[in-house]
Amino acid sequence: MISSKPLDIPCSLQERKVLEKIALAAHELGVPAYLIGGFVRDKLLGRKTKDMDIVCVGDGITLAHKVGQSLGDNIPVSFFKTYGTAQVKWNDLEIEFVGARKESYRQESRNPEVTAGTLQDDQNRRDFTINAMAISLRDIDYGTLLDPFEGLADLDRKLIRTPLAPEQTFSDDPLRMMRAIRFASQLQFTIEESAFAAIRSNAERIRIISQERITDEFNKIMLSSKPSVGLDLLYKSGLLKIIFPQMIDMVGVEMYEGKGHKDNFYHTLQVVDNISENTRDLWLRWAALLHDIGKPATKKFEPGHGWTFHGHDAVGGKMVTRIFTRLKLPLGDKMKLVKKLVELHLRPISLTKENITDSAIRRLLFDAGDDIESLMMLCEADITSKNRTKVKRYLENFELVRKRLKEVEESDKIRNWQPPVTGEMIMETFGLKPGRIVGDLKNAIREAILDGHIPNTYEAAYAFLLEKAGELNLTPVK
Ligand code: ATP
Ligand code: MG
Repeated sequence: MISSKPLDIPCSLQERKVLEKIALAAHELGVPAYLIGGFVRDKLLGRKTKDMDIVCVGDGITLAHKVGQSLGDNIPVSFFKTYGTAQVKWNDLEIEFVGARKESYRQESRNPEVTAGTLQDDQNRRDFTINAMAISLRDIDYGTLLDPFEGLADLDRKLIRTPLAPEQTFSDDPLRMMRAIRFASQLQFTIEESAFAAIRSNAERIRIISQERITDEFNKIMLSSKPSVGLDLLYKSGLLKIIFPQMIDMVGVEMYEGKGHKDNFYHTLQVVDNISENTRDLWLRWAALLHDIGKPATKKFEPGHGWTFHGHDAVGGKMVTRIFTRLKLPLGDKMKLVKKLVELHLRPISLTKENITDSAIRRLLFDAGDDIESLMMLCEADITSKNRTKVKRYLENFELVRKRLKEVEESDKIRNWQPPVTGEMIMETFGLKPGRIVGDLKNAIREAILDGHIPNTYEAAYAFLLEKAGELNLTPVK
């Protein structure tokens, strides 16, 4: 059956078909059902969305099973009895079912006491007016938008507003503070003044929220098209100080002898926005966020010279591990990439000077490996000067570095290079067991090749090995 009934939101044929099946199942069970929340909001905004939330005045799990059966054989239905929720996956749609509920909160937890309620109760417990709109799937008013809090007008006004008193809303479930800022960043909406004031006064309550959930929202901010919007709101609300104090250490400009440095916090936000124009990769955005994180710890005023941040790249690299651990971000390859980019972020700049040798270029190619392109992208995003002539000159310099990198890579193939004499060969030649001497010899060969002292060939490397080993009184065993 293909639907002919109109809906107050634009939906594809497939979505309309599913909604009619849900309506029919609900009708047969005698429970009123509604489409609600993010799907309704996103459809009205013309955003892509794949997860549908269905609320019914009755048992959501029973409805989910019935819908699953009506959609076909072997449609997976997963459910959580304790929460009264169920999920049906159909094609690329994920449909979430829950019974309408009424909630009352206690001070120390974001887990409320839940009792069955009406649609109105359920809409009252939603976080924002734009998330509380429902589309009726009942026979009598099928397809009608039920919008008790003027969510539609708020979409128009680009406003994040709570259905009930904001103090209560944020105090009940402090995760909503992160969500408010996340939506402001994703949708480029404004948080209503009284709501933002309530976030500021409830900021401390974020401590009752699990780190995973906080980080989830933080990453959604990082993935929005202009993350600085959300990051700045996190700062101004007082939340950032609690969830990510290292960022706060970058705020502000110190003056000494009439000289200031740039505000590293706002510089960083600009760099994150810049890189976000060129990549959707979360981890490159994280590298931009953390590239100067070592600056506060290394800041010095050097008389006659001004403010310096010597070693902030290495110090920043070390901080990456601590920050990822604290924020419960993944500690594997993604973290390694971020760390590496933070550590290397000054290197391409040093290559924009004149008379750069091939060996300096080779060394960067070796250290950056396959991430060289990402590193160049970070460096270009790091240019935040307001002076157009300067920006143009810096970009041209980086273009030259890119050209040199390409030339040297083409002739030397350094990116995924391993020296022609391996540790095993060294051990075999001198009858050595694994240990420091082997490592030292291996490094010496690698350095000699990268510095251009010897060519990148087996013969040259082997001859160099014999010479170095001779200095240590080692002789070949055969
Ligand atoms: P997205 O799917 O982009 O994360 P969403 O608004 O759909 O955004 P979900 O987490 O999928 O967010 O939640 C679906 C709906 O459930 C929301 O639109 C909102 O009505 C409600 N909701 C989710 N989290 C909360 C919360 N912490 N407090 C109140 N209502 C919430
Ligand atoms: Mg959703």
